[in-house]
Amino acid sequence: MAQIINRQKTVIIGAGPVGTLAALYAAQRGDDVEVYELRSDLRDPSTIPLNFTKSINLALSERGINAMRQSGRPAILDKIFSETIPMKGRMIHGKTASGELYEQSQEYDVHGKAIYAVDRGGLNKALLDELEAMPNVKVIFNHKLTGADFKARKAWFEIIGSTALQNTGRNREIEIDFDFMIGADGAHSAARYHLMKYSRMDYQQEYIDTLWCEFQIEAKPVPARKDKESRFWISPNHLHIWPGKDFMFIAIPSFDGSFTCTLFMPSSNFSKLEAQPSKVPEFFDTHFPGVTNLIIPPDLISSFNQNPHLPLINIKCQPHHFSDSIVIVGDAAHAMVPFYGQGMNAGLEDIRILFEFLDKHSSRQEALDEYSDYRKADAHVINDLALQNYVEMRSSVVSPIYAARKWLEET
Ligand code: FAD
Repeated sequence: MAQIINRQKTVIIGAGPVGTLAALYAAQRGDDVEVYELRSDLRDPSTIPLNFTKSINLALSERGINAMRQSGRPAILDKIFSETIPMKGRMIHGKTASGELYEQSQEYDVHGKAIYAVDRGGLNKALLDELEAMPNVKVIFNHKLTGADFKARKAWFEIIGSTALQNTGRNREIEIDFDFMIGADGAHSAARYHLMKYSRMDYQQEYIDTLWCEFQIEAKPVPARKDKESRFWISPNHLHIWPGKDFMFIAIPSFDGSFTCTLFMPSSNFSKLEAQPSKVPEFFDTHFPGVTNLIIPPDLISSFNQNPHLPLINIKCQPHHFSDSIVIVGDAAHAMVPFYGQGMNAGLEDIRILFEFLDKHSSRQEALDEYSDYRKADAHVINDLALQNYVEMRSSVVSPIYAARKWLEET
């Protein structure tokens, strides 16, 4: 008689970068995988990216690259790398005492290693495409986790935006069961909220007094240049920083020649400019010299007015799991401020390490106990480093130490 093998049903909450990578790892191990995502498919052009105006560019580093390399589907990296740009250092922009604009390159690594500018949406789409090619994965969009019982292993989802259901007045909620849940539903995680009712979780959340707003340097061919990088107005191989001591403006290259830029500033400075948006170009000329040559003043004002001014949250919690039924990963477990460029990278690394522990132990309970314990220390440290690096980026990069190092390099 043929033996019936019960495959484990792994349910992932959230189809962001971390949830989709988790689905890939679980599917590679033969689980029946279901991914539930609150929003519609981001590959559909009508889907508006959460919190972001266009598409945000992120710094992808070895931590995240290695997690994708170890997924068992390393070809995914070819797709992602085809549209990334290596950033070998940061470029500090300023003005000399005599009023001349200057740029100073500070390399990240003596051996020339780089981090990579990647389109977050592009990376996420590549992971979703890879999942679609796997027969044991279902990605279910427009489903919001609303409740979970981690002892009975049941979860409830609201079906979002189904007018057909709204009109019939039928129940818009579904119930599912699962063997194992991975909560990858971001900083405001519903999985974490429900997990807290089961686990004696220590939880700490902090909003820093900084908001962020996105701007864009458009791709414009530089007429005087004919080389392949002529579509970039400033160096494509740097993360550009205009340090302002208490605030900063940064620019990350995009493959099409544009740059995604972000203003990070205390809320009180935002309030002052919100009251007088016409002063935005003057503010930039005073604090971020040269930017108005790259973004014309009307565009600076309209981006400031139209793009959201968003908060930054830092979350620490422990443990990250309950029994052998749920674990949280990525921003759900350790949302951090973006100044170390490691939020997504650390989330991707969670998946590599989580599955290393799951592979090592025959008991999932033991694997999760060890994972939670092991990951807590690293997650807390990287959150702290991210906070500290804000001071480095907005202020210390113009310290005399860097100036001296530059002088030594040039002499
Ligand atoms: P998310 O990307 O938040 O994805 C969570 C998913 O879960 C979403 O698709 C959401 O719709 C879904 N979801 C939410 N609630 C539910 C629910 N109830 N039910 C079902 N689905 C749900 N990181 C880097 O590594 N490098 C960088 O350079 C970098 N720069 C950044 C710059 C800025 C300005 C910001 C704000 C962040 C930056 N980050 C960076 C951090 C990075 O964006 C996050 O760490 C990363 O997106 C986290 O991925 P995630 O999959 O854990 O969560």
